[in-house]
Amino acid sequence: MTVLVTGTAGFIGFHVARRLLAEGYDVVGFDSVTDYYDTSLKRSRLEILAESSDFRFIRADLADAAAVKSAFECRPEVVINLAAQAGVRYSLDNPQAYVDANVTGFLNILENCRATQPKHLIYASSSSVYGGNKKQPYSPRDGVDHPVSLYAATKKANELMAHTYSHLFGVPATGLRFFTVYGPWGRPDMAYYKFTRAIFAGEPIDIYNNGDMYRDFTYVDDIVEGVVRLIDLPPKADPDYDIATGGASGSWAPHRVMNIGNRRKEHLMEMIRILERATGREAVKNFMPLQPGDVLSTWADVSDLEALIGELPHTPIEEGLVRFVDWYGRYYRVQ
Ligand code: NAD
Repeated sequence: MTVLVTGTAGFIGFHVARRLLAEGYDVVGFDSVTDYYDTSLKRSRLEILAESSDFRFIRADLADAAAVKSAFECRPEVVINLAAQAGVRYSLDNPQAYVDANVTGFLNILENCRATQPKHLIYASSSSVYGGNKKQPYSPRDGVDHPVSLYAATKKANELMAHTYSHLFGVPATGLRFFTVYGPWGRPDMAYYKFTRAIFAGEPIDIYNNGDMYRDFTYVDDIVEGVVRLIDLPPKADPDYDIATGGASGSWAPHRVMNIGNRRKEHLMEMIRILERATGREAVKNFMPLQPGDVLSTWADVSDLEALIGELPHTPIEEGLVRFVDWYGRYYRVQ
C-alpha cells in the first residue's frame, strides 16, 4: 500500500514514515525542508528514511498546487498530512507562512484527495485549538474551541475545511489534535529541547508564567502508534443523513476530529526537574511572564480515540524524557 506522508523531514512525519517503512508500506515523502529550525537535523532524518528502498522523497512546497498534484500521481491509498508551519510564538510575527503552508497547502491536499479519492486522509490538528479553555480534560465533543493564536486558527481552519470536503466530496478524513509531542529527533523550537540544550551548555532557561503551566506531554512513539492503527479505520458517512432535515448528525460527512495525548497534565517545573535528573545538571532558571498566544494548561481526553483503536501506550514523561536526553547526548556528542 502506498502512503503519502507530508512533513517527512519534520519530527512527527519522520517517525511516522520510519514506522510505516518498517511495516512494509511504500512511503512517498513530501516536504519543502523549511529553515524554521536547523535544516541539518531535517537532512539527517531524511538520510535515515532514504536507507529504505521503499521510500521516495519529493522536495516541494505544499502551497505549490502543481507540485502537490504531481505527488498524488502515485495514487496514494492513504494520505497523512503532517507538513505545516508549526509553532505558536512564530505565528505572531510570521502570519503569512501559516496561511501559505497550513491553509493554501491544506487546500491543495484536499483538492487532490477529492480528485483521487484515497481511502483515508489523516491530518494533524492541534491541542492549541482549545485555547484558553478552563473545562478540562479537553474533549472535541465539548465544543470548547477557542484558538488564541493564528497557528491555532489555521489548525481549526483545517478541521472545518476537511469537514466540508468530506461532506461535499466524500473524502474520509480524520483530524488528530496532537498534544505537545516530544521525543528523540524532536523539534528544537520546543521547550523540552531548548531546555536540554541550555542545561548542557550551562546557559539560563526562560521559564514563562514563572513556571506555572501544565502540558499534556505525549511521547512521539505513542502518537505514531495511534496514527498507524487509524490507517485502516476511516470514518464512514452517516447513512441516515437526510439532505432536507440534516438527519441526526446534521452532516453526511465521513469526518471526525479526535484528541491524541497522554491523558495526564504535567507541571512545567516537574518537566524541568526530570530534565535536571536526566542530564545530571541543574538548570539556571530565568523566570518570565506569560507569552502572548500561550495557553496555561492542556489536558487530553482520549476516550473517543481509544474506543475506536483500543488503548494506546502512554509513555510516562519520566521515561520519555530520559530517552530524549539520551538521544540528544548521542546526536550532539555531549561530553
Ligand atoms: P515539524 O516542523 O518538525 O515538521 C513539519 C514539517 O513540515 C517540516 O519538516 C517543514 O519543513 C515542513 N513544511 C512546513 N511548511 C511546508 C510547506 N509549505 N510545504 C511543505 N513542507 C512544509 O513539526 P512537527 O512537530 O513534526 O509537527 C507535525 C504536525 O503536527 C504539524 O502539522 C504540527 O502543526 C502538528 N502538531 C505538532 C505538535 C507537536 O507538539 N510537535 C503539536 C500539535 C500539532
